[in-house]
Amino acid sequence: MSRTILITGGGTGIGRATARHFAEQGETVIVTGRRLQPLSDLAQQTGVRALVCDHTDPQSLAGVLSALPEQIDVLVNNAGGNTDFDSGTDPDTGAGDEMELVRYARAFRANLDANLISAALTTKALDGRLAAGGAVVHIGSIAADQGAGSYGASKAGLATWNLDLARLLGPRGITANVVSPGYIADTEFFRDHLTDERREHLVAGTATGRAGSPADIAGAIAFLASPAARHITGQVLNVNGGAHTTR
Ligand code: NDP
Repeated sequence: MSRTILITGGGTGIGRATARHFAEQGETVIVTGRRLQPLSDLAQQTGVRALVCDHTDPQSLAGVLSALPEQIDVLVNNAGGNTDFDSGTDPDTGAGDEMELVRYARAFRANLDANLISAALTTKALDGRLAAGGAVVHIGSIAADQGAGSYGASKAGLATWNLDLARLLGPRGITANVVSPGYIADTEFFRDHLTDERREHLVAGTATGRAGSPADIAGAIAFLASPAARHITGQVLNVNGGAHTTR
C-alpha cells in the first residue's frame, strides 16, 4: 500500500530529488515551498501534489493543514538554507553599535527560523497525523559540526532537538533522525556565493573526490523511512563523502 510522504521545501534541490525518488516508488508525495513555480513544475512532471507554505510562519502552516491528509507516514523537514546568502551581508562584520546589533540579531534569528523553528513548527503541527510505524527525517548539515555562524548553530540545534523528538515519538513506533549532508551540488543552496575555488576546496575535503548529489541524500532519507530502519532513531546520518567523520 502506498505511503503518504510530505517533503517541505520540495520544489528544488534535495527536496525535489527526494520527491522524485518516493514518487517513482509509487508513494503519494506532497511537496511544499514558498514559491509556486518550482512546485507546480515538479507536480506537472511527476504527479506529486504541491502546496505553497512558509514553514517559518505559524499562520501559513496552519492555513495549509486543511489541505493535508489526516495521516502522514513520512515527514521530511527539508526546507531551509543559509539565510545569510539571501540577506547579502556578513553578520559577523560591523561596528557593534545599536544598528549593527539589531541587524545581527535579525540575521541570526532568520537562520534559526529557517532551519530549526521551521522543522519544530511543522512537526508540532503534524504530530497528531504522524502514522504509527512512520518516520520523521530532518535535513541537518555538516555545518553543525564544522561551524558556519548562525546557520551551523541552527543545524546543530536541530540535531539536539531531534533527540527529544525521538523519545517523544518512539513509543508510537515513529523514528526521528537527521540526515546531515556535506557539499551537495545541483541545488539552489549557495545562490551565487559559491566560487570555483570554494567548490574545489569542498570537493578536495571528501574521501570520494566528488560533490554529493541530491540523489545521494534522497537515498539516505528513503533508507531511514524504510522498514529496514525501524530501530534507528535519534541519530545523525552523515552523508558527506567522508568530509567529516565520526566513530
Ligand atoms: P535549495 O535552496 O535548492 O532547497 C531549499 C528549498 O527549501 C527550496 O525549495 C525553498 O523553496 C525551500 N524553503 C526554504 N525556506 C522555506 C520556508 N521557510 N518554507 C518553505 N520552504 C522553504 O537547497 P538544498 O536542496 O540544498 O537545501 C535543502 C536542505 O539541505 C536545506 O535544509 C539545507 O540547509 C540543507 N543542506 C544543503 C547542503 C548543500 O550543499 N546544498 C549542505 C547541507 C545541508 P522556496 O524558496 O520557494 O521556499
